[in-house]
Amino acid sequence: MSIENVGIVGWRGMVGSVLLERMRAEGDFAGLTTTFYSTSQVGQDGPDMGEGSLPLGDAYDVSGLAKHQVVITCQGGDYTKQVLPQLREGGWDGFWIDAASAKRMDEDSIIVLDPLNRERIESGIQSGVKNYIGGNCTVSLMLLALHGLFREDLIEWMTCMTYQAASGGGARHMRELVEQMGTLHAGSADLLADPATNIIPIDTQVTETLRSDAMPTENFGAPLAASLLPWIDSAQPLGDTREEWKAFAEGNKILGRPADAQIPIDSLCVRVGAMRCHSQAFTIKLRKDVPMDEIEPMLDGANDWVHLVPNDKETTLQQLTPTAVTGTLDIPVGRVRKMRLGNDYLAAFTVGDQLLWGAAEPLRRTLSILRELQG
Ligand code: NAP
Repeated sequence: MSIENVGIVGWRGMVGSVLLERMRAEGDFAGLTTTFYSTSQVGQDGPDMGEGSLPLGDAYDVSGLAKHQVVITCQGGDYTKQVLPQLREGGWDGFWIDAASAKRMDEDSIIVLDPLNRERIESGIQSGVKNYIGGNCTVSLMLLALHGLFREDLIEWMTCMTYQAASGGGARHMRELVEQMGTLHAGSADLLADPATNIIPIDTQVTETLRSDAMPTENFGAPLAASLLPWIDSAQPLGDTREEWKAFAEGNKILGRPADAQIPIDSLCVRVGAMRCHSQAFTIKLRKDVPMDEIEPMLDGANDWVHLVPNDKETTLQQLTPTAVTGTLDIPVGRVRKMRLGNDYLAAFTVGDQLLWGAAEPLRRTLSILRELQG
């Protein structure tokens, strides 16, 4: 039966807004009857997708949601945990497409990243899997960047050192980062105004402001501007954080690696003062010594979004920064070189927009695959 009837929850949040933007840009709403829901604005005007806006439905009204063939949610894990079991218990057998992590590792879910696992998504749809979940942003961006090496099964183990943007924490975190920057500038503006001021008093002033109550830190818990935060999410038993564990757990699940052939991936995840692009530095142990003139074409163009950035300063600063990549679907990968550790060790660096390929894009593409396969 063709997919014509979709409910969208969480559309006004950060991921949801980017999802709507992308769906509009790709003409995804054509041929769909879409109903928008809210947990807090029921009855208010929903978004106008070109045919006028309709009142928002109640995102907790399970009988309303159950009328849809597909529900897409960017509302968050607590919402998923509360509503999805009620829907399923009520007999709803529609498709659930979700940005939240709550169901990613469940047996009855597929983590979607179709440039790498389209076959698994298609066979899941054909065999009756109903839950399709977007992966963690850093994990999806890492897999897209190194797609060529994973496809050739060249990675024996690897580490990901991440430099993650404020947006990973949500909209309020992005606002707080900009406010922190403003507070720091305001604190030293008089000194900066005089070009003759020595740098030491400016640095002293910045440090004083950083350590003072003037810094807004309600969301991050510490200053991020002019600093960094080497802890994201909760602690795990092995001393890593949940964000760090995801590269290993979700990464291997997306790649479809069986339990006895998992690729060890160890991460250290750090929040930095970028707005919405996550960057990552990789140390990759290759299964064998593959020459650079084979590795480079393998990485370049492994999918439609990844491209190799030549390892020189000028091109790197032009193409391999959050400034260059933000708001685009591009996945540049650069700083690629063999390491002193040995010829079977590779270094690489990538940047990706964590709201696009990191969150919204896999969801809208999953809906497109469903529509293709269901006729
Ligand atoms: P968010 O911006 O906090 O939005 C979530 C919900 O908050 C909205 O749908 C909205 O629901 C409500 N809300 C309350 N006040 C709002 C306001 N002023 N503006 C907009 N919405 C407001 O959450 P998110 O960052 O999009 O994340 C959604 C889910 O995606 C989470 O599970 C997250 O873990 C996952 N995810 C996030 C990222 C990321 O980078 N942020 C990446 C991958 C996955 P109502 O309309 O019902 O009030």
